[in-house]
Amino acid sequence: MENKQFSISLKCLFCDCELQADAEKEFASGDMLKCQECQECDELNDYDALIDVASDEGKALAEDYAKREIEKMLKKSFK
Ligand SMILES: [Zn+2]
Repeated sequence: MENKQFSISLKCLFCDCELQADAEKEFASGDMLKCQECQECDELNDYDALIDVASDEGKALAEDYAKREIEKMLKKSFK
């Protein structure tokens, strides 16, 4: 089975732009990540909420991938 990697990005909960993580800093539960990507938005994103959203996104991606693989298998066997 091929090793499939999902890329999940952390997005600002307010404006939906991608959050750039500061490489120097490690974030942990309880931290607030400031949105710096866009001009309008200067909101603080709650780390825990971001992880929640990202893990939901990851689950959806994995389910989607699994579904496509199953469809492929079924198509093959019914051809
Ligand atoms: Zn933002």
